[in-house]
Amino acid sequence: MREWIKANAGKTYKNFINGEWIESVSGKTSVLYESAIPTNELGHFPDSVIEDVNLAVEAADKAFQQWKNTPGTTRASVLYRFADLLEANVEELAYILSAEQGKVLAESRGEVKRAATEARFSAGEAMRMDGAIMPSENPEIQTQVKRYPIGVIAAIAPWNFPVVTPVRKVAPAIAYGCTVVLKPASVTPWSTIRLMELLAEAGLPNGVVNLVIGSGSKVGDPLVSHPLVKGISFTGSTALGLRINEIAASKLAKTQLELGGKNAAVVLDYDNLEYAADQIVSAAFAVSGQRCTAISRVIVLQDQANSLVEILKTKMENILVGPAWEENVTMGPVINRQQFDSVMDYIELGKKEGAELVYGGERLQVGEKEEGYYIQPTLFTKVNKTMRIAKEEIFGPVLVVMEASDVAEAIELANATDYGLAVSVFTNQLDVSHDISDKIDTGMVHINHGTASQAHVPFGGVKQSGFGAYSIGHSNQEFFTSMKAVYVKPR
Ligand code: NDP
Repeated sequence: MREWIKANAGKTYKNFINGEWIESVSGKTSVLYESAIPTNELGHFPDSVIEDVNLAVEAADKAFQQWKNTPGTTRASVLYRFADLLEANVEELAYILSAEQGKVLAESRGEVKRAATEARFSAGEAMRMDGAIMPSENPEIQTQVKRYPIGVIAAIAPWNFPVVTPVRKVAPAIAYGCTVVLKPASVTPWSTIRLMELLAEAGLPNGVVNLVIGSGSKVGDPLVSHPLVKGISFTGSTALGLRINEIAASKLAKTQLELGGKNAAVVLDYDNLEYAADQIVSAAFAVSGQRCTAISRVIVLQDQANSLVEILKTKMENILVGPAWEENVTMGPVINRQQFDSVMDYIELGKKEGAELVYGGERLQVGEKEEGYYIQPTLFTKVNKTMRIAKEEIFGPVLVVMEASDVAEAIELANATDYGLAVSVFTNQLDVSHDISDKIDTGMVHINHGTASQAHVPFGGVKQSGFGAYSIGHSNQEFFTSMKAVYVKPR
C-alpha cells in the first residue's frame, strides 16, 4: 500500500460534470493529507464555488429528461456493471480509502465490498418500483397509483464512510431514474473521484451523476437551496441536518437525513458475557468509533456489571492500534487533528464529570515520532445519565458503562438521550427482547448481536438521528419517487 500511495500522490483532480473532468471556476484547489501521516500530501482537490454547483445541477437536470424515461432494466445493468467494477478494484479503492480516512485495510476492503452489495440490491430496485390498481367507485373509471422519479438529488456525504455512503445515495438514485450532484466531505474527496471513473466505465450516461468537491461552507447552501434540486439525501451531524431541513422545507424539497447516534448495548442477565463483550467491543471500536451506529454506551444490570467490565477490558487490550497498511493492526487513528481534539476534550470532560476512567484515555504514539492521531480504546465506568459523556455523540473510541437496577431502569437509561439510531440488547429471554423492542426508541434494534446492518434492510433512525425515508432497503422508494393517482375512463 505504501508504494501505491507514494506512486499516486500529488496529482491534481477536478470536478466531474456532465461526463467531463472540469477545473473549478474558482481556479483554486486544496491539499489533501494522509490521515495516518498528516504531513504526507495525497493530492490537490477543487475548491469549488457556487458557479460549479450551478453547472452540475443544470447538467443533472438536463440528463434527468432522458434518464427518467430510460427502461429500468437498462438502469439496472449499469449498476450491476458498477458493482462488478467495485469488486474488481477493491484493493485500489481500499488503499485510497485508508489513506484519506485512516481506517485499517480490512475495514476499507469490507466497505468497498458492502458498497458493491448495496449497488446490486439497488439495481434490482429499478424493476421493483411499485404502484397499485385500486377498486373504483365508478365501474367506468379505472383507478391507479403510479410512481415517478422526483428529479435532481443533492447527495451530501460525511468523511467516515467515503465509499459506501456516496454509493448508498447514488445507486438508488440511478435505479429509480433520478440524477445526482454528489458533494463528498472535503477531507475525503479522493474515493469519490474513483467512484465517478467506475460509474463512467460502467456505461452511465453523461450528467446522470456529477461530482462537486469543495467545502460545505461554500457549496453546501447553494446546492441545497438550488431550485432544480428536488431532494436532499444527507448523512452527517444532527446540527447540519436540521439546517438543511429548514432550507429544503422553504422550497418543499424532500429530505432523507441520516444523523448522529448514541447507541446503547443493553445487557440483561445474559448467560454469555464473553460473546456480548466481543460484539460490543467490535461495534464500539470499528473505524475508531467514528460510526453513527457505533455502540458508545453499555447499560448493564448491577449483578453482571463488574464481570462485564473485566471482560471488556481484556478484549480492549487485544485491540492493536496502528496505521492502515500494517495488516495485523485492528484499529487506525481518528481521521485528523480536529477530531482528535474533540475526542480528547470529551475524555477530559468525562474525568471532570466524575466518571471513572478504567482503561485507555491517552494519545498513543505509533512509530518513531508522533504522527497520526491515535487514541487508546477508552472505557469509563460509574457513568450516570446526566453526564454529557452519556448523552452526546463522541464519535471516537470511547465507551461508557452505566448500571441499572432492573429492566425498567435499563430501558429508561437507553432512552435518556436525544438520539434514536440503533440499540443492541443481550438477553436470554424472548419476552424481554420483545418488550425492549417495543419500548426503546430507536430506528434499529439488534437482539443478541452488535449493530451491524445488512445491505437490503431499511436503515435509519428516529428522534434526532434521522428524518425521512430510511435508506438502503426498498424504503428508499419513498424518497426517490413521487406518487401520482391516475383515473382512466377507457372510452
Ligand atoms: P458534518 O455534518 O460536519 O458534514 C457532513 C457533510 O455535510 C460534509 O460533506 C460537509 O462538508 C457537508 N456540509 C457542511 N456544511 C454544509 C452546508 N452548509 N450545507 C450542506 N452541506 C454541508 O458531518 P461529518 O462529516 O463530521 O460526519 C460525522 C457525522 O455524521 C456524525 O454526527 C455521524 O453520526 C454522522 N453520520 C451519520 C450516519 C447515519 O447513517 N445516521 C452515518 C455516518 C455518519 P465539509 O466536509 O466540506 O464540511
